[in-house]
Amino acid sequence: MKATKCNYCGSERYETRRSEYLYTHRGEYLLVPNTPVEVCLDCGTMYYDAAVLKEIERRFFAIREKIEQPDRYVQMPQKAYA
Ligand SMILES: [Zn+2]
Repeated sequence: MKATKCNYCGSERYETRRSEYLYTHRGEYLLVPNTPVEVCLDCGTMYYDAAVLKEIERRFFAIREKIEQPDRYVQMPQKAYA
């Protein structure tokens, strides 16, 4: 599946890259390295495939329910701005 036009700038120039995706759900996180993403070469908008996002969501809940093990845990410090 490939997007044909950028929703933001109308460009048709895309590049497939691998990037880190941070899934967040009610203050819980799953960091997903190596996530495939289409990047608009003109404005930099990133498009994730719906199937990819669905799989990430599935894994998040599988890990939370302890059906699957994460590759590793990372500590993420956080500090609210306000
Ligand atoms: Zn664009």
